[in-house]
Amino acid sequence: MAVDYGTLKKGGFMRQKQKNNFSLRIAVVGGTLTVENLKKIAEVAEEHGEGYVHLTSRQGVEIPFIKLDDIDVVKEELAEGGCKPGVCGPRVRTVTACQGNAVCPSGNIDTQDIAKKLDDRYFGRELPHKFKFGVTGCRNNCLKAEENDVGIKGATKVAWKEDACISCGLCVKVCREGALKLEDGKITLDQGKCNYCGRCVKSCPTDAWDSQSAYLVSCGGTFGNTIKEGQYMLPPITSEEQLFRVTDAAIQFFDDHANAGERFKFTIDRVGSDKLYKVLKEAYDG
Ligand code: SF4
Ligand code: SF4
Ligand code: SF4
Repeated sequence: MAVDYGTLKKGGFMRQKQKNNFSLRIAVVGGTLTVENLKKIAEVAEEHGEGYVHLTSRQGVEIPFIKLDDIDVVKEELAEGGCKPGVCGPRVRTVTACQGNAVCPSGNIDTQDIAKKLDDRYFGRELPHKFKFGVTGCRNNCLKAEENDVGIKGATKVAWKEDACISCGLCVKVCREGALKLEDGKITLDQGKCNYCGRCVKSCPTDAWDSQSAYLVSCGGTFGNTIKEGQYMLPPITSEEQLFRVTDAAIQFFDDHANAGERFKFTIDRVGSDKLYKVLKEAYDG
């Protein structure tokens, strides 16, 4: 019987150069695996692979040297350990994320929660070409948001609270953008310079800042044959509902306008960033 390599690839089984061998990609949402997942992956790699795994550049785990005849049993065994296969080809790939504010002191958003919600919403959706989401918790950008077709970066909107301020000047020192000034006991914020990093809030000893978590969304990043940085078009997004309206609009724009085999960046260039901005802004405004 002919082997349907397309379907296998769609299900995470990537054909190797060695005949009838596949490298199985496991979906690792946000780079997080439980001990249960890890034990099962180790077991499968030992019993059906060659006793090792490969960690991909997008936080995935691949188990190489799975034999064609073992594919069904491997799928069953992995499912028992709570693992699902990743995907390849023209569809939404596994969402990547840094640890975010559940663990990291610099984090502005719960990246893991957003990654899971994006994955639930879009994972495996068929599109004209591959489509990648990445979620990073703050300006440090450990997850490199702008490499992705859609990148999400955690931000903090800030407002000074005069009553609680003791004029220590710490916030002015930690602001890398030079957005803050302390004169005559008063802080002034140059909104045009602020990059929403949230460092002023975290440094303040008296909690003299009102802060609101936010999301910055970039579109059109690609880091393969062509290297382009995703571009930011919208002001900070301040609710999950608004965020998902914007991501829905971005992915739908791609679905509606992309040619087969064309990355989002090139669809935007061909159709016009003004047109993308229009649909994103409508989604932003609700
Ligand atoms: S991007 Fe920010 S929140 Fe995420 S791991 Fe790096 S420092 Fe922490
Ligand atoms: S959020 Fe960051 S850039 Fe903006 S004022 Fe505070 S420290 Fe400066
Ligand atoms: S760090 Fe806080 S207390 Fe100190 S100057 Fe800034 S706002 Fe005021």
